[in-house]
Amino acid sequence: MIEIRNYINGELVAPAKGGYIDNYEPAKGKVYSLIPDSGEEDVKRAVEAAKEAFPSWSETSLDERSAILLRLSELIDQNLERLAEAESRDNGKPLKLARTVDIPRARDNFSFFATGLRHFASESHRTSDHVINYTTRKAIGVAGCISPWNLPLYLFSWKIAPALAAGNTVVAKPSEVTPMTAYLLSELCIEAGLPAGVLNIVHGLGGSAGNAIVEHPDVKMISFTGGTTTGEHIARTAAPKFKKLSLELGGKNPNIIFDDCNFEEALKTSLRSSFANQGQICLCGSRIYIQRGIYEKFRDTFVEKVAAMKVGDPLAEGTKMGAVVSKPHFEKILGYVKLAQEEGGTVLTGGHAEQMEGDLSEGYFIRPTVIEGLDEKCRTNQEEIFGPVVTLQPFDTEEEALAYANGTEYGLAATVWTQDVSRAHRVADKLKSGIVWINCWLVRDLRTPFGGVKNSGVGREGGWEAMRFFTEPKNVCIKY
Ligand code: NDP
Repeated sequence: MIEIRNYINGELVAPAKGGYIDNYEPAKGKVYSLIPDSGEEDVKRAVEAAKEAFPSWSETSLDERSAILLRLSELIDQNLERLAEAESRDNGKPLKLARTVDIPRARDNFSFFATGLRHFASESHRTSDHVINYTTRKAIGVAGCISPWNLPLYLFSWKIAPALAAGNTVVAKPSEVTPMTAYLLSELCIEAGLPAGVLNIVHGLGGSAGNAIVEHPDVKMISFTGGTTTGEHIARTAAPKFKKLSLELGGKNPNIIFDDCNFEEALKTSLRSSFANQGQICLCGSRIYIQRGIYEKFRDTFVEKVAAMKVGDPLAEGTKMGAVVSKPHFEKILGYVKLAQEEGGTVLTGGHAEQMEGDLSEGYFIRPTVIEGLDEKCRTNQEEIFGPVVTLQPFDTEEEALAYANGTEYGLAATVWTQDVSRAHRVADKLKSGIVWINCWLVRDLRTPFGGVKNSGVGREGGWEAMRFFTEPKNVCIKY
């Protein structure tokens, strides 16, 4: 059984207290590796190492820093297949998805910021004939990066790469539910020649290892992606210590389909935006609003396609729907399906676990589920389920669609399907959401601001937004 190690001060080490947590393979429902149950002492060591590494890392030349991060990106590419298999096994996601989305994106996160750091400039303002201001942006110190289980290496590296590129050192914690690729990354960091202490990876539970990172007085900024309740807790802990905070939290994203949409495109993409990664992407559209003129046609075709979707072994070639990530999550999703029925919803397809055979018989598989007939304000339509469950609802007017779409406490992403360019801009403008996709979904450009409004978070990741978060600006004003 693989025993995962922490990566502290350039070395792979056991947790200080020697305790381990079971790591389950979701497709089999069995323990297949052990995760360090790290605590305060491990975090303390990691922060010490990061503090010691900071002066020299923050002063490395841009060329040198860029070269090391590019080397890491190349190593991820060279190990793509191994990492994709590990991600699929650890998370339950289809191997193909890990191979074509998760791991390539982790590679690109490092190369993007490795090259980006060479172009990161700051402002200068000529105030009058005799006064000029210029702003410097310098690395801050030790960054704490905490990430969730749904896109493990993808989101882990999305934080670490800009933090390192900006010249900070890092103490990071992946989700305890999916630690494997972060562990493999630590091996690649050693191979890439990343100086000791520049990146430290501490494995363990959120309440112990995660909390110790957030509380540590020498961790000056926290970049967190995860649930809104955890984000709230982190904000409460970090705010009185005046730490910089970036919080990417939950969502309940609307997918609005107008009568005049390109029907085939809307249908095809909605299948993906509903069920990719078993619906466990913070950007998935879980509330589908369809204009009345095409409601029945869309519903019937959508349900027919969903009913035909095959749920299978994540590691098998061709599988598009794998297992959900853990037993508690499996139970939570099925609990929401039950709730939806109690709230008056009708399950049009799915709504139950998929019983697999052989060594997958204990796995956490759920049929993709479509529900209609629910009220807008019911819990099923308000709370984040984060699984392969979507609701359908008809609407008549643009105003009605907007009221539904904006009617939750979340505001991460929204999708709109229409051929009317004026309506597209109008609706995009009125959606209370950090990201709007028109006639597409999950098309990403790493330069764009990424994040949500309302309870979906505070701050933005991506491009210069990330580089600004991980640096402190200082303005110098000169009279001459
Ligand atoms: P959690 O909030 O449960 O956990 C996220 C991370 O925080 C994990 O590493 C977790 O550790 C850690 N953690 C938990 N408690 C604490 C604590 N008290 N102090 C410090 N760290 C802590 O989220 P999930 O992992 O369940 O991820 C799913 C959520 O993430 C969904 O709500 C989803 O919407 C959101 N998400 C948001 C995205 C965005 O960009 N806005 C993108 C992807 C997901 P551990 O798991 O080891 O206990």
